[in-house]
Amino acid sequence: MKKMLNKSNLNNSYQQILQKVYNDEDVKKFINEHRSELTDVAIKKSASSLYEFINKRDNMKNGRDQYAKGYEPRLEINNHLIEVTYQPTQAMLQAAQQQTIKNNVQAIGLAKNLKDAKLDDFYQENERIDALNNALNFISKYENSSNGFEQGIYLSGSFGVGKSYLLSAIANKLANDNVKSMFIHFPSFATKMKSLIGSGNNSVADELDRVKTVPVLMIDDIGADSMSTWIRDEILGVILEYRMQNQLPTFFSSNFSMEQLEEEHLAVNAKGDYEPLKAKRLMERIHFLARPIEMGGENRRNR
Ligand code: ADP
Ligand code: MG
Repeated sequence: MKKMLNKSNLNNSYQQILQKVYNDEDVKKFINEHRSELTDVAIKKSASSLYEFINKRDNMKNGRDQYAKGYEPRLEINNHLIEVTYQPTQAMLQAAQQQTIKNNVQAIGLAKNLKDAKLDDFYQENERIDALNNALNFISKYENSSNGFEQGIYLSGSFGVGKSYLLSAIANKLANDNVKSMFIHFPSFATKMKSLIGSGNNSVADELDRVKTVPVLMIDDIGADSMSTWIRDEILGVILEYRMQNQLPTFFSSNFSMEQLEEEHLAVNAKGDYEPLKAKRLMERIHFLARPIEMGGENRRNR
């Protein structure tokens, strides 16, 4: 285009292009709005920029522009000439913002269909309303207190009533308000930790640190699988101890009530040894961190 501009013999097709450029509505509007800042010479000299602007804009409209995706051309005056600049599109800014929110929730073993769980969509039946109200209450207190400790919730209830759904919805709401959290499906997390043993580079300790220190932690489905002594004492025990000492909000979900979890799950290790004192110690921490709420209602799976 620039080369063409410099040619003294302007041919027909070039004249046509110039016509198209100066008759373009966006171009006309821009020149009108900035007429006082532009000389006639400047407008002529800007022809190639204006042409670039029109091309990019139309390519974008037709979805043909793969280069600079997410950016749109704008006209601007620079050094008394018209130039094209590229600005991020509204769609791209929104997508980036959505991504930032999503990154606030880390998850291990969170089912795909629960990732976008929303409090607004939570079924409000009588048997669930207590859990929902406690969740809302937690969120408003946590977000409005400077650093006072807020107890999380220990959700118990049978299979399919929406315990995991509610935990994920809480995490998403917090994420939206810029609070980082982590959702760990406990059996998947235990498997992951075991697989990290011997993989070197302190990976067990690093992973444990991430879980221990995250501002809000959701421990989902605790009690679903029998735990080895190592997982119970060196992983779960360490996480709970740290979170209690540092007053970090922690949520749980389980098919067991707290009493059942203590008696039927924590007190018996995978080998079948009975260790009631260890169970009691763990339960004290869970009691400190979360208040028990029972959730009922219909089984919502496979509907
Ligand atoms: P639980 O963890 O109690 O076993 P889930 O949270 O996995 O149950 O819920 C089971 C299914 O029902 C999931 O597919 C989930 O998407 C859906 N579901 C549960 N509760 C709700 C709810 N309140 N609103 C919308 N969908 C729900
Ligand atoms: Mg669940």
